Amino acid sequence: MTTIEANLQHVRTRIATACERAGRDVTAVTLLAVSKTFDIDAVVEAAAAGQMAFGENYVQEGVEKILALAEPGPHGAPLASVQWHCIGPVQSNKTRLVASHFQWMQSLDRLKIAQRLSEQRPDHLPPLQVCLQVNVDGGSNKSGVSPDEVFELAEQVRALPRLRLRGLMCIPEPSDDFDEQVSLFQRARVLYDSLNDRGYGLDTLSMGMSDDLEAAIMAGSTMVRVGRAVFGFRPRKDA
Ligand SMILES: *Cc1c(COP(=O)(O)O)cnc(C)c1O
Repeated sequence: MTTIEANLQHVRTRIATACERAGRDVTAVTLLAVSKTFDIDAVVEAAAAGQMAFGENYVQEGVEKILALAEPGPHGAPLASVQWHCIGPVQSNKTRLVASHFQWMQSLDRLKIAQRLSEQRPDHLPPLQVCLQVNVDGGSNKSGVSPDEVFELAEQVRALPRLRLRGLMCIPEPSDDFDEQVSLFQRARVLYDSLNDRGYGLDTLSMGMSDDLEAAIMAGSTMVRVGRAVFGFRPRKDA
């Protein structure tokens, strides 16, 4: 067994244990493998071990991997069904790349970016699946729409023809205290539930990473985004 395969197994076990503890069905939580800074071979290895959804922070880096996998050759056909999620901040000049190559955009927090993504989504592709990133703690992590603005943005995004609003994403400040971490994640859960009370039909609450996926699952996460626990240590500091 490769290291990545063993890591994936370990992460899946952590997810199953957390679901059990939270009284949730294990199928309620999807694993997104965050492959930023890792090369295409790592993605191929994870895919060979059954991992089918990958997240990238840097648009250019993600597109390079997407194109490499789409080419015929050693990693050709079997990887055609791999799904790519953009999870990092996107500037206006990168929206076309996101709209053309990714299936999901999880870090949407501005109407202007949403409008560009909708306009630029190619006709031959299904709508871009999107999550709104919410800044649940107003912390040093400045990305994300504030909780009181999320309803307005959700309404605007829902009206865009080439986007499909699937849910919310958040990255709260890390905390060593499990209950405190759960309560931060619960802020996103409350917003998610109240959007659904208003008829949004959301099915994705993307929260939890290598160090806090148990707390996120306790608070209702449906998708954990895991990098280091799958691929190992990331050498690049900015990542
Ligand atoms: C890097 C990153 C992750 C994964 O973080 P790990 O701590 O390596 O699991 C998840 N989500 C986002 C938005 C990230 O940037």
